[in-house]
Amino acid sequence: MDDRETKFRIFDKKRCVLLVEDEVVNQELMKLAIGDFYDVIVAESGEQALEILSAKHETLSIVLLDLNLPGISGLDVLRRIRKDPTFLRIPVIVMTADSDAEVECLTIGAIDFISKPYPRQEVILARIRRTIELSEDRVILKLTERDQLTGLYNKEFFYHYADQFDLYNKNITTDAIVLDINRFHIINDRYGKSYGDAILKHIADESLTIVNKNGGIVSRSEADTFMFYCPHVSHYNSILEALSVPLGTGENKDLRVKLRMGIYADVDKSLDIERRFDRAKMAADLVKDNFTKPIGFYDHSLHEAELLNAQLIEDFTTAIREKQFAVYYQPKFDMRGQEPILNSAEALVRWKHPTLGLVSPGLFIPLFEKNGLIQALDHYVWDEVAAQIRDWRDRIGISLPVSINVSRVDLYDPELEDKLLSIVKTHKLTNKELLLEITESAYTENAEQIVDKVRHLRELGFYIEMDDFGTGYSSLNMLSCVPIDAMKLDMLFIRNAFKGEKGAQLLEAMIHLAKSFELTTIAEGVETSEQVSSLKAMGCDVIQGYYFSRPLPAEEFEKFMIEKKGVASKSGDRNP
Ligand code: C2E
Ligand code: CA
Ligand code: CA
Repeated sequence: MDDRETKFRIFDKKRCVLLVEDEVVNQELMKLAIGDFYDVIVAESGEQALEILSAKHETLSIVLLDLNLPGISGLDVLRRIRKDPTFLRIPVIVMTADSDAEVECLTIGAIDFISKPYPRQEVILARIRRTIELSEDRVILKLTERDQLTGLYNKEFFYHYADQFDLYNKNITTDAIVLDINRFHIINDRYGKSYGDAILKHIADESLTIVNKNGGIVSRSEADTFMFYCPHVSHYNSILEALSVPLGTGENKDLRVKLRMGIYADVDKSLDIERRFDRAKMAADLVKDNFTKPIGFYDHSLHEAELLNAQLIEDFTTAIREKQFAVYYQPKFDMRGQEPILNSAEALVRWKHPTLGLVSPGLFIPLFEKNGLIQALDHYVWDEVAAQIRDWRDRIGISLPVSINVSRVDLYDPELEDKLLSIVKTHKLTNKELLLEITESAYTENAEQIVDKVRHLRELGFYIEMDDFGTGYSSLNMLSCVPIDAMKLDMLFIRNAFKGEKGAQLLEAMIHLAKSFELTTIAEGVETSEQVSSLKAMGCDVIQGYYFSRPLPAEEFEKFMIEKKGVASKSGDRNP
């Protein structure tokens, strides 16, 4: 679809012309000439023209201005239009019998002229149409328009056009839809970038076909994200199907690009257009990694979640200042000997919110990861943890390494190493006492940069655990090039392993593989004695989970530690 078609689809409503003309005969003549093609509003004086402009400037596409008016002159009306930024977008064609006035009008900012007596109808129509097109193009071009690869509108342009769409479709129920490709980076990695580009192009073309049929506009807003703004439909499934283009070289015809769709149906038009798409995006995130349910809807519960998120973000600074964040500790046990030995702990943050009660990190960590607040929170937690390790050693003579969670955002911080070193130094610890848990999925994004960072941390003497192993998509052979000390098997992965024989074999194979890379294996989320004995039999080195203890507040964990003290104080003997 070319530019023109797109435009006509959106603008198939008539444009509105403000005709400023005091003589009834001329009014009638002009209406006769253009009335079939435009909505014409008549102002009989300069004053009236300015009133109408103030009230309706949003919907006006052009002003046809007579110079000889009673009261405020046409030239003064023109001056005011050109001076007021809210009217600046609207082009003015001056209608006059006086060719001497032309120069002055052009200087003030008229775009074109229609002479009096009026020329032929075609001439009038052509001038008006061209002037409107030029002015609309100018506004639009300013926003640099289009995504180079797919030819779709880019985000800024799309938002602008969505506003226009509303203007001309006031009473139409409208949907905001976000379409994401699942794991697009894997497609790029596996089939190459030009193949990835072809996929994007294909989806873009299909999207255009769909909006051509149903009305609406579409854009590519980010690498693998598309946005639709269109009259309400109900057949989302068939749209999604049409967009799920085939994948791969074709041997497997069922292999298709996996998409997810977030729908904010019947949008509230009093919200900013960006907010409407935030909601669609939220709905899409709802079904992230959910391969059986690819469509998510924005609804009331999401609205509540949105309000909660807004509150959490708002309350964050106070919470840090007032120390509302508490660090809980969950023990990890070394299983290599006869008896389990407490050898370290994981620090897990909780928010003791004054009105919401104890808030789980599952609620606020992903939120803070998105908006960057996570760094401040992590720094706070790390500092608390380091102080706690020191305190335990000084006060009760127990030295226990504690692992902290390092989020992806932290890894992009060029000052991460300095930060960690300074924390360790301040509390007079060694780098080996603050273990770093880095989630597996961090390695798959921007792999090289992250791998370098982790390598450097390790060179500095920090002990690195790859967290949530089994949830991400890093291939097993990645283990050979990623510089880590321990592999922490994700709890879901472990849970699945105990559901069937195949899962158990896979788990055992992974543990062996980790061993062949001389990595310590840690199982988390272990709840039953059956799981403990199987894992031990498979050669798993370290176990963490409710079986031993839930995460505990520092004071309770201290008691737990003292209870195990005889063995705990020897923790330095072994690798964590
Ligand atoms: P994670 O790092 O994978 O932490 C393990 C989660 O599993 C914790 O949830 C823990 O309470 C829970 N868990 C431990 N054992 C068991 C078990 O036997 N059964 C079950 N069902 N669950 C168990 P929690 O504390 O809610 O933390 C959730 C996630 O939040 C963590 O996952 C981690 O990714 C993140 N997180 C927590 N604290 C921090 C922090 O200080 N900084 C950062 N960046 N992330 C944190
Ligand atoms: Ca962790
Ligand atoms: Ca984990």
